[in-house]
Amino acid sequence: MKIGIVGAGMVGSSAGYAIALTGIASSVIFVDRNVDLARAQAEDISHAVPFMSSCVVHAGDYADLKGASVVILAAGVSQKPGETRLELLGRNANVFREVVGEVLRVTPDAILLIASNPVDIMTQITARLSGLPAGRVIGSGTILDTARFRSLLGRHLRISPQSVHAYVLGEHGDSEVLAWSNARAGSEPLLSFATQLGTPISDAVKAEIDDGVRNAAYKIINGKGATYYGIGAGLARIVKSIAQDQQDVLSVSVVTRNVAGVADVALSIPRVVGAAGICADMMPTLDEDEKEALHRSASLLKTTIEAVTL
Ligand code: ADP
Repeated sequence: MKIGIVGAGMVGSSAGYAIALTGIASSVIFVDRNVDLARAQAEDISHAVPFMSSCVVHAGDYADLKGASVVILAAGVSQKPGETRLELLGRNANVFREVVGEVLRVTPDAILLIASNPVDIMTQITARLSGLPAGRVIGSGTILDTARFRSLLGRHLRISPQSVHAYVLGEHGDSEVLAWSNARAGSEPLLSFATQLGTPISDAVKAEIDDGVRNAAYKIINGKGATYYGIGAGLARIVKSIAQDQQDVLSVSVVTRNVAGVADVALSIPRVVGAAGICADMMPTLDEDEKEALHRSASLLKTTIEAVTL
């Protein structure tokens, strides 16, 4: 399978690196308006490939995306001093107007996988610009927040994060919702599992994990200026589900008809991901506080997207 990546910056290149090394695609092609950067990333990653897989990695222009089954959109501009979040959004919407048009001209049947932030809003903008069915415009959403949640729970319980089933819902951002009430480890409700293992989850532990998930990006940015390996691997995980038609349940962002009483908004809930893109949505059973928090998160995103003019 051929994978296109538009935007060869930190996030796009980390995704390309993870996809190339894990061998889940036969080729990866980078497109960036900074042609030298795209070439350098492709060259550097292609030198890592012989150690791990046989993926072909190139840089090219939009025409070279022909035949790509998935195109990751990781292009964007960064915030200027004094610029509001909405002004930045407007400029990124313009970048996407150009990029989405170019991509669809060459590869109209591709699934679009959005990585640029604010990812839920950019996903909804892409859905509008492309006119594609919602299930073929997928934002990375809370896939990374969910991985952070599972990782911190696994660390506390001293078990593999892969044996933890817990999701972060809603916005990929400050209003996200950690769904504690339906979290499980093995097949057991989380709290019961934790007590049996002698690692109970007190309110203090809960607060610490909540903070660890919610503020992970801020802490990483303080130390190294940006986050990219985690999201790069998350994007590769979504691509794997599509490439191998795995029907995995992943928390990703898609424009959804109704979530917590809010209509037509892109945010994350668990969804079944396979070769066709999103095959089904799943609304988890939540307690009253979580329902209310998800409603707040969805409303906030809805207010923002309504302020964006395209
Ligand atoms: P991030 O950390 O989110 O990856 P970067 O600034 O490292 O952010 O990467 C964003 C990339 O998007 C840059 O390499 C930039 O050249 C690219 N880009 C910006 N606008 C466009 C555009 N219109 N077309 C293609 N690439 C673009």
